[in-house]
Amino acid sequence: MANIIDGNKIAQDIRNEVRQRALELKEQQEIIPGLAVVLVGEDPASQVYVGRKAKACAEVGFISREYKLPAATDEEKLLKIIHKLNKDKSIHGILVQLPLPKHISTENVIAAIDPNKDVDGFHPYNVGGLVTGTPQFVPCTPRGIMEMLARTGIELAGKEAVVVGRSNIVGKPIALLLLAQNATVTMCHSKTKDLPTVTGRADVLIAAIGKPHMIKANMVKEGAVVIDVGVNRLENGKLAGDVAFDEVAAKASYITPVPGGVGPMTIAMLMQNTLDAALASE
Ligand code: NDP
Repeated sequence: MANIIDGNKIAQDIRNEVRQRALELKEQQEIIPGLAVVLVGEDPASQVYVGRKAKACAEVGFISREYKLPAATDEEKLLKIIHKLNKDKSIHGILVQLPLPKHISTENVIAAIDPNKDVDGFHPYNVGGLVTGTPQFVPCTPRGIMEMLARTGIELAGKEAVVVGRSNIVGKPIALLLLAQNATVTMCHSKTKDLPTVTGRADVLIAAIGKPHMIKANMVKEGAVVIDVGVNRLENGKLAGDVAFDEVAAKASYITPVPGGVGPMTIAMLMQNTLDAALASE
């Protein structure tokens, strides 16, 4: 039976470290890290995420500012708010909650954020830094996965790492981060042929697909480390990952649960990125 990697515990450790460092920053340099979260529209899931971010800010002693704009807000108005936040010295991190309504260009909005305040790590400048191996801000979920692996003592150099999913927010950045740690990385997607053979080679398998229980035991090598990024709402209302947990846990050496795995790491790393932005602002 695999060891379960406890994301709640690791995320709490990180939030404690961030809180401590933020306290020192306040005492020594009178800087309080500030995060602005911009939400356009009334998407219920987005509202929950924004609420969690504000709560996490309060816990670690950050200032958090929320901008809740109606769904009909035009791009120009949103860009104006971002330009204002770019100049605001009390704000170190700017996050625009995605997805945005269809009439607003996500690319334009992300590109308008000052890269030094881009705590989501989605600005092309920061994406470029990730590709060249000199990242300033790394997207929170992939950074959280790397932190989980590091804190669990999992060596990556020379290992076969397989990432299923190639999105800009999870699949691509995690593949680049694994590569930077000298893993031999394979990326899979919906057009990959014979997925079980490819995933079956993985010493470290990352599932970021968005399909409940898709990764079965016959797709996993004995002793693999399995990281489940998926968050899927089942018909019965329960949350499920992309990995068939029970059968895969019987074969893996380490596995992350859903919930309580990668999920809590994402917000913890947002706090870390905001702290890093505040530290770099001086
Ligand atoms: P996307 O929908 O953007 O990407 C899904 C990827 O999975 C695509 O690259 C797609 O391939 C691939 N895929 C779909 N079906 C298959 C298949 N049958 N075989 C192989 N590959 C397949 O999703 P995200 O990356 O945004 O999110 C993935 C999951 O992670 C979701 O469940 C999401 O909720 C969760 N998530 C969790 C977070 C957390 O904090 N825990 C944060 C972000 C996401 P193709 O490109 O060919 O279409």
